[in-house]
Amino acid sequence: MAHTKDTITFEDVLKCIKVYITDKDELSNIERAYSLAAKKHERQYRKSGEPYIIHPLNVAKILTEIHADSETLQAGLLHDVLEDCDCTEEEMEKVVGKTVTNLVDGVTKLAKLHFSTENEYLIEYYKKIIIGMSEDVRVIIVKLADRLHNMRTLWALPKEKQIKKANESMEILAPLAHHLGIHKIKSELEDLALRYLKPDVFYDIAEKLNKTKLERDNAVSSMMDEVKNILTEHNISFEMKGRSKSIYSIYNKLDKGKKFSEIYDLLAMRILVNTKQECYLVLGLIHAKYRPMPRRFKDYIAMPKPNMYQSLHTTVFGIDGLLFEIQIRTHEMDAIAENGVASHWSYKENKDGAASLQTATEQKLQFFKSIIDLSNDGMSSEDFVNSVKNEVLNNNIYCFTPKGDVIELPTAATPLDFAYKIHTRVGETTVGALVNNSIQPLDYELQDNDIVKIITNKSSSPSKEWINIVKSTAVRNKIKSYFTRNERDIYVERGRELLEKELRKRKLAINGFFNEENCKKIFKEFKVGSLEEIYLEVGNGKDAPNSVINVIDKPKEEESVPKKVTITKGDASIIVSGINKVKVNIANCCNPVYGDEVIGYITKGNGISIHRTTCHNLSMLDNRTVEVKWNDNSNNTKYLSMILIYSNSQENHIADIVGKASKLGISIDSIYNMYQDEGLEYNVSCYVTSIKQLDKMFLELKKESYITEVERLIR
Ligand code: MN
Repeated sequence: MAHTKDTITFEDVLKCIKVYITDKDELSNIERAYSLAAKKHERQYRKSGEPYIIHPLNVAKILTEIHADSETLQAGLLHDVLEDCDCTEEEMEKVVGKTVTNLVDGVTKLAKLHFSTENEYLIEYYKKIIIGMSEDVRVIIVKLADRLHNMRTLWALPKEKQIKKANESMEILAPLAHHLGIHKIKSELEDLALRYLKPDVFYDIAEKLNKTKLERDNAVSSMMDEVKNILTEHNISFEMKGRSKSIYSIYNKLDKGKKFSEIYDLLAMRILVNTKQECYLVLGLIHAKYRPMPRRFKDYIAMPKPNMYQSLHTTVFGIDGLLFEIQIRTHEMDAIAENGVASHWSYKENKDGAASLQTATEQKLQFFKSIIDLSNDGMSSEDFVNSVKNEVLNNNIYCFTPKGDVIELPTAATPLDFAYKIHTRVGETTVGALVNNSIQPLDYELQDNDIVKIITNKSSSPSKEWINIVKSTAVRNKIKSYFTRNERDIYVERGRELLEKELRKRKLAINGFFNEENCKKIFKEFKVGSLEEIYLEVGNGKDAPNSVINVIDKPKEEESVPKKVTITKGDASIIVSGINKVKVNIANCCNPVYGDEVIGYITKGNGISIHRTTCHNLSMLDNRTVEVKWNDNSNNTKYLSMILIYSNSQENHIADIVGKASKLGISIDSIYNMYQDEGLEYNVSCYVTSIKQLDKMFLELKKESYITEVERLIR
C-alpha cells in the first residue's frame, strides 16, 4: 500500500471553511480553537510519525465536506485535547465557550471506553452513542469524522488494532452514518474497513474495476451524451454525473451469489433537476427511449427511505444493449442523499442550524426513535445490545402501510412486529393481516417491499403465543410486559402515549409541557393529584388528550357558522364568501376537486373541512356537517387528487401514464407502482383544475387495453 503523508495546514482547512462560512466572528472563533489545539498538541506525534495536529486538521476538513457549522468545526479541531493533553474543561471553556467544550467532552467520553469483555464494551459504546445523540447529534458527527480519518491512516497501527477498529467501523460506525443518512462517510468507512477485514476480496474487486474502467467510462459518457440531447430537446435544465460504485457495495452483491458480470449498476449515472415534477418527466422521457428492466424501478420520492433518502431509481437497456442504472432526483434531494441529517444545518433560513439539526434527527429519523425506545425499555443489557446491533443498526427490510408509509423491520419480521411498530395499541388489537392483498397468518415471514394491512378489533387483546412469534426484542418485551403488568399500568402508559402524540402534533415538548406550573393548573382543572392520574384518565378513555392540553394550550375559539356556505375559489386558496373568518380546508382523505359533490364538516378549532359526499369518513361525522357549494368564479386553483390505476400487464407503463397526464395539462406530484398478482397497480397523485379534467384523464386511461380499472382513492 502506498501511503502519502498528509501535508495539511490550517490555511488549507480555512479555505474549505470559507466556502460556506463568511461570518467574521465565527471565523475568528474557529481560529481561536485551532490555536488552542495547536498549542496543546505541540510536540505530540502520531504513530505514522506526523505531528499530531495533522489529525484534528483532517477531521475538520472532513467536517467541511458536509458543511458543518462553526461550533462543530471547533469541536473537530479540539476533539482529542481533553483526552490526550494537559487541558481541563475549565481551561477550554474560557477559550471556546460552553457549547463547544460540551461537544468535545461528548466525543471524549465515546473514546474513553475500556472494558474487559467484548459485550460489556459494546453495551457501554451503544449507551454512550445514544446519550450523545439525544443530547447533541453533532457529537456523533464529529466522532464519525474522527473515525474516518483514523481509518484512512490505519496502516500505521499494529495488525490486531487494525482488525478491531475495522470491525467496529463496519458494525457500528458505518451503520450509524447510514442511519443518519451521511452517505459520503458511510461508504468510505465501509470500503476502508473491508480493505483490512478482507484484503484479498478488496484488492480483487479493485483490480477488476480498474481493468474495466476505461470501457465503463466510455459507455457511461456516450450514454450521458444521448440522454443530454433528449433533456435539452425538452428544455429541462439539469446536471448530470457519472457515478462509481463503492467496492463494499459490489462485495455485498458478490457475497449474495452474484457474478461480477451480473452486477447491473456498474454503469451508473445520476440526473439532477430542479423540481419533483421534472424528476417524473425525466423518468418518462428516459423510459420512452430506453426499455426499462422490469422490477428495477423504485420510487423513493413518493416513498422516502427512513433515513430521508429520496430519489427515483431505474435500470434501462441503454446504448449497445448495456444496462444502466439511472438515479433521478432534485438538487435538494441530492444534498440530503449525500449528507443526510447533516444537510439540515445548512438551511440558511434557520438561524439556529444546530437546533434544526437536532430537531431533524429526533423527528425525521425512525432509527432515532427506535433506539430511544429501546433504551427506555428497561431490558437486560444483553438484550439491549442484541436489539441495537441486529434490529436497529443492521436490520433491514422495508414494508409499507397501504398509505405508503415505510416501516423498517428486522429481517424475518412478522405482521405482528409490523403492527406493534405502527403503534402498541394497533399491535395489541391485531386479529389478522393482509400482505399484498392476501390474508396471511400472524407468523408469516415478511419480505422487503411487502404492503401490509393490519386488521384490528378494538375488543381483542394479545395472546401469550405471540411472545414466540415476534422477531423484534422490543416488541417481545412489550408483549411480555402486557402480561405482567396490571390494567392500571397499561392505561397509564397508553394515556402517556396518547398525550405525547397529541403534543407532538402541536409541536410541544412533553417534558416542557408538564412543568410544575402547568401541572398545577391541569391538576386543579381535573381534580387530581398527580401526573399519573392524568395519564390514567386519558388512557382509560375518560378524558380526551386534547381536553388536558387545552387547559394550557388553548386552540382558537370555534367560529359560529351558518348552515349554508358557499366555497369561493379565491386567488390563493379557498375561502368562504361572506364570512371570511372561517377557514376552509380540503379534506385529505377523499381529496375533492372543483366540481365534485361536496359536503362540509365543522371541525373542532380548525374551520370547515370539505369532503366528497361519497367519503366513508363522513358516516362518523354525521351531525357536524354543513351544506356547502363550489363558487363558480373559476380560476386556476389546482386540487390534489389521488388515483389508483389497475393494469393486467407486468410491463411498466409509468412513462405512458405520465405522458397522458401532461398532454391534458395535469401535473403529476408522485407516481409509484406495486406488483400485484394480476399485474401492476399504479398509485398516482396529481394536481387537477376540475372534475372535468379528471374525467378526461380517466377516459384516456380506460382506452388502453392494459388498464383494467381506474379509481379515485379515499383513505
Ligand atoms: Mn481523534
